[in-house]
Amino acid sequence: MPKFIEALKEKNPNQDEFIQAVEEYYESVYPIIEATPRYQKNKILERMTEPERVIIFSVPWIDDKGEIHVNRGYRVQMNSALGPYKGGLRFHPSVNLSILKFLAFEQISKNALTSLPLGGGKGGADFDPKGKSDLEVMRFCQSFMNELFRHIGNYTDIPAGDIGVGGREIGYLFGKYKRIKNQFSGVLTGKGINWGGSLIRPEATGYGLIYFAKHMLENQGSQLKGKRCLVSGAGNVAQYAIEKLIDLEAKVISVSDSTGFIIDENGFTREKLDLLMEVKNERREGLESYAAEFDDLHFQAHDYDPDASLWKTKADCAFPCATQNEIGEADAKDLIENEIRLVAEGSNMSCTNEAIRILQESGVLYAPGKAANAGGVAVSGLEMSQNSQRVGWSREKVDSELQNIMKHIHGQCLSYAQKNNKPNNYLAGANIAAFFKVADAMIDQGVV
Ligand code: NDP
Repeated sequence: MPKFIEALKEKNPNQDEFIQAVEEYYESVYPIIEATPRYQKNKILERMTEPERVIIFSVPWIDDKGEIHVNRGYRVQMNSALGPYKGGLRFHPSVNLSILKFLAFEQISKNALTSLPLGGGKGGADFDPKGKSDLEVMRFCQSFMNELFRHIGNYTDIPAGDIGVGGREIGYLFGKYKRIKNQFSGVLTGKGINWGGSLIRPEATGYGLIYFAKHMLENQGSQLKGKRCLVSGAGNVAQYAIEKLIDLEAKVISVSDSTGFIIDENGFTREKLDLLMEVKNERREGLESYAAEFDDLHFQAHDYDPDASLWKTKADCAFPCATQNEIGEADAKDLIENEIRLVAEGSNMSCTNEAIRILQESGVLYAPGKAANAGGVAVSGLEMSQNSQRVGWSREKVDSELQNIMKHIHGQCLSYAQKNNKPNNYLAGANIAAFFKVADAMIDQGVV
């Protein structure tokens, strides 16, 4: 094991997800560091993997019955070489320091790839919004912001949404920040459209993912039209990935959530997607309720047969859009057996490192989340620009900027992969392109 990784493990015990993210990155960048004395001398990797600041705080709140609860809140401010910290907030019972450090670490490269002036951060809480009333969620968000407000600001750190944090939560968080600071500023992104949000922000991650995949296929002389596509997740990223796939005449044959999955051989239509959005976003119910609306759809609960998996279905393209490590070694083998041609990550670190290796060795086109799902943070960056200028851009303008950014990220990945003798290796290309930007900025700014 490389000495650097050994030391990292010793310094960060029990942080498996964080170690996994750094190991994957290290493999791409260590040849460059070894060949470049100034990167070694400046201890770039050692500094990049140590968060600039971690804030951990208690979040007490009272439920509708008057009972008191306490959750743990976090903000990981990982790296500010390129701009203020930027990254989402995740509310999910699984949230811990390891998960947030991995997400914040990935965010450094992702934000660098967008070419916008954004550093990397991430935060959240081990709070589960599921099954809570709107008032309970509001009280939780207000308590969370009671502490977070001290550490964020439009030139310091600008959080956004992630799993469990959508428009409702951003609204409550923003309202509390505004009240405490007596300031209406662009301190959060993902805001409502009539109070400082950007058009296309809800769609941006899913749309951007599909724009990226379109370029991957076009680069091989192929296209999305007519391709059988697997999508996992049923939240923000999955919904808009499905929408763009339908627009581009691909056939979406799956969807999943934390309760189970559905294979729909007839393919998603606009009407089916509207119903999915109603079930997930308004009724806040599980996929079983969606399947119940159709005679020909079968809902497969995860706990009914843990070996059943949507990745066992024959398809051309796979878009994991639920959570980290949702494609493991066995899933990668299943996908290859079913002749998958492309895997592009909507979720962050969707694939384990072993799964990535298997996919790449089999010649599957693989795009890491830090490149393929960067559309969300890119449009968050555009929301910040609109807030600063006090203007609101049209849907067409934001979408066109998003398309340009995804095209540019795709181009950077390909060209840095090529330059480093790893043709079509989007992971190596993404890591190396981002590394140069962040490392050089860190050196320019000195050891501070
Ligand atoms: P949402 O909360 O809107 O949706 C998440 C979806 O994934 C839900 O359908 C959820 O199921 C499912 N899910 C979550 N955890 C698990 C799990 N452990 N097992 C199975 N299913 C699970 O989140 P987003 O769509 O915003 O985020 C999805 C992924 O995309 C995350 O990895 C996030 O970090 C990443 N991402 C999001 C961006 C954004 O702009 N929102 C930007 C870039 C990346 P259920 O509905 O039952 O809760």
